[in-house]
Amino acid sequence: MTITLEGRVALVTGAGRGIGEAIARTLATAGARVAVLSRTEANAQQVAHQIREAGGEAMAITADVSDASAVEKAIETLLERWERLDILVNNAGITRDTLLLRMKDEDWDRVLEVNLRGAFIATRAALKPMLRQRWGRIINISSVVGLTGNVGQANYVASKAALIGFTRTVALEVGSRNITCNAIAPGLIETDMTRALSEQVREYALQRIPLGRFGTPNEVAFGVLFLCSELASYITGQVLIIDGGLTAGL
Ligand code: NAD
Repeated sequence: MTITLEGRVALVTGAGRGIGEAIARTLATAGARVAVLSRTEANAQQVAHQIREAGGEAMAITADVSDASAVEKAIETLLERWERLDILVNNAGITRDTLLLRMKDEDWDRVLEVNLRGAFIATRAALKPMLRQRWGRIINISSVVGLTGNVGQANYVASKAALIGFTRTVALEVGSRNITCNAIAPGLIETDMTRALSEQVREYALQRIPLGRFGTPNEVAFGVLFLCSELASYITGQVLIIDGGLTAGL
């Protein structure tokens, strides 16, 4: 059996690099038309261009996910061009790590604004066409730290844990319309976000991962592809952990 997304339209946020880029490419390879949304225009253009070079269909959208009017306008543009929206992947996310006692109000607010409010804004806007179509797939990129907690990341952990509660509630509210909503909780994945970690932290993490390595962006993207496909038609409100075994045995 092959997985195909032929005829589907997807919007991936934070798709200019890292995990989001891998998700956009993977969905396009499976046949979906993909809107590559990024805050940085050059990155969105580049990823969309590369998808088209590889024979896929893609459009670049520049928007900040915390800006409701920009995201709503982006979805309108997408609908004018492709007339439907089947898949939303809320992937855009940032960190502003520091111990709680040193955490500034703006570090807390900005992380919640991008990681959580951004997902709320995009989901609310995407649900309108999905409800009309009576078909939809929403995937929220959470994190294993949203399940376990993590020192120095109170803001990030709160946003990622909240995304899981949000996922379950969306699943409850729109299940009757054949729209599923699931979360993916990646462990440590090789991207700019984890390359910024100190060598000491990377070494410590590596020792705790049963598979003995960080994951690749594609390994997260394959989970997204599965959840978007017909193979996952009876899965909703769940969290798929992709962490090389990091949380096994906890
Ligand atoms: P990254 O920093 O490499 O990429 C994040 C992308 O999001 C970038 O393209 C960035 O421009 C975009 N972005 C950030 N703020 C935005 C905003 N306000 N509006 C629009 N786009 C914005 O990070 P990544 O490692 O690829 O992470 C992707 C997602 O996966 C994030 O939600 C992150 O929290 C989550 N995650 C990553 C890891 C990991 O180990 N890398 C682990 C668990 C979860």
